[in-house]
Amino acid sequence: MELYKLTIHELHEKLKNKEISAKELTESVFKRLSETEEKIKAYLTITKDEAQKETEEADKNIKSGNASPLTGIPLAIKDNICTDGIKTTCASRILESFIPPYDAAVITKLKKSGYILVGKTNMDEFAMGSSTENSAFGATRNPYDLDRVPGGSSGGSAAAVAADECIAALGSDTGGSIRQPAALCGIVGMKPTYGRVSRYGLVAFASSLDQIGPLTKDVADCAVMMNAISGHDPCDSTSANIPLPDFTKSLVKDVKGLKIGIPEEYFIEGIDKDVDKAVRDAIKLLEGLGAESVKIKLPNTGYAIATYYILATSEASSNLARYDGVKYGLRAEGKDLIDMYMETRAKGFGSEVKRRIMLGTYALSAGYYEAYYKKAQQVRTLIKMDFDEAFKKADVIITPTTPTAAFKIGEKTQDPLQMYLSDIFTISVNLAGVPGASIPCGFTKDELPIGLQIIGRPFDEETIIRTAYTFEQSTDWHKRKPNL
Ligand code: GLN
Repeated sequence: MELYKLTIHELHEKLKNKEISAKELTESVFKRLSETEEKIKAYLTITKDEAQKETEEADKNIKSGNASPLTGIPLAIKDNICTDGIKTTCASRILESFIPPYDAAVITKLKKSGYILVGKTNMDEFAMGSSTENSAFGATRNPYDLDRVPGGSSGGSAAAVAADECIAALGSDTGGSIRQPAALCGIVGMKPTYGRVSRYGLVAFASSLDQIGPLTKDVADCAVMMNAISGHDPCDSTSANIPLPDFTKSLVKDVKGLKIGIPEEYFIEGIDKDVDKAVRDAIKLLEGLGAESVKIKLPNTGYAIATYYILATSEASSNLARYDGVKYGLRAEGKDLIDMYMETRAKGFGSEVKRRIMLGTYALSAGYYEAYYKKAQQVRTLIKMDFDEAFKKADVIITPTTPTAAFKIGEKTQDPLQMYLSDIFTISVNLAGVPGASIPCGFTKDELPIGLQIIGRPFDEETIIRTAYTFEQSTDWHKRKPNL
């Protein structure tokens, strides 16, 4: 068995028992990378030299009996998470040569755990997109079909995990960017509750929605990663100061009496037949294991996309004002200060980012603020209240993660609205601030992975993990690998 194929928990056992060394494991992953990366293009920066040093350190710790669950485990990090001394570009020309002088809070935690950084992964520019085609540095490919997208915006992280070019990865999710690529690449992805994981050092897109989370090969690894990155951080005023569970304690096969909410608004016309069937079969399987499904209503679902694209673009227009040629990254020449700002932003940002800055600036402008931004905030509250109501009846909510499996590269790039619709099932979760995960639940007749979305109560990732684990232990979907 090639080591790169294994999961975090399998490798941890082998490392701890000294059956393998971190050096062998890291070499195995980099060898795999050298064979497949040319096809996949998951990475923007590969950190082989740094990894070598970290590996020596990890092996020393393992030898002296100090192996944490992530010691010596090679991980990939989305390129909007700051890494001290290592380029962090957000897949944008404007940050093409930006080297952060500090680590994001999640990286500090991972470093303490002794992880190995494989590299920084490709993404849609500033996490704006659903296909990774909005990267300024070229598209990433879906390991299951190289002509198709891996999803986005964390498409590089998802593809790297699915192609075994790392053992697990971190992504960020503002409207679906962890769950949607996880679904399209046949892996597990979790967006934690807003406030569960520190956003310190995550390059801001829409601050009231952004959340960092793991992309992994199975549910047990998701729990291990959640343990490693969660927790209160005084550097992020929105991070929650509440007790932290041990998420691995939820890895139990038991859904007896669990109430699964099925929202009628999510099983709509236009959803792919194979996706619809796989999700319904998954619900049946859970019922067979003792869960009980209940019909619920999320009546404001129809407004989610519109609400999201007003709020996310408004926040983005404000967050991205800092890229002015003075403080960070690219600076273009101009005949005076204003001209320099304009040239820098014209050259530095791609077209989707510019579109969003304009939309957001418009929605926040004096004459339109009340009509658009304020109205969208009010609808956001209604969407949040829909979930509060639903969780009175249900312990988790189950839906498809996406309406279709992976689409072709180029298929939706000319039509932004079509692209925005790929997040129709994931966006409400960010607006409500609740946690959600996607796990593999089948394949289409074209052999493309299908994702099952499990949504939980605020700060109840544990019930999501238990439901996901129970399903996974009764199926083999997560064991399939792409033919590369
Ligand atoms: N696809 C959505 C967007 O384009 C969500 C992106 C994300 O979650 N970062 O905004």
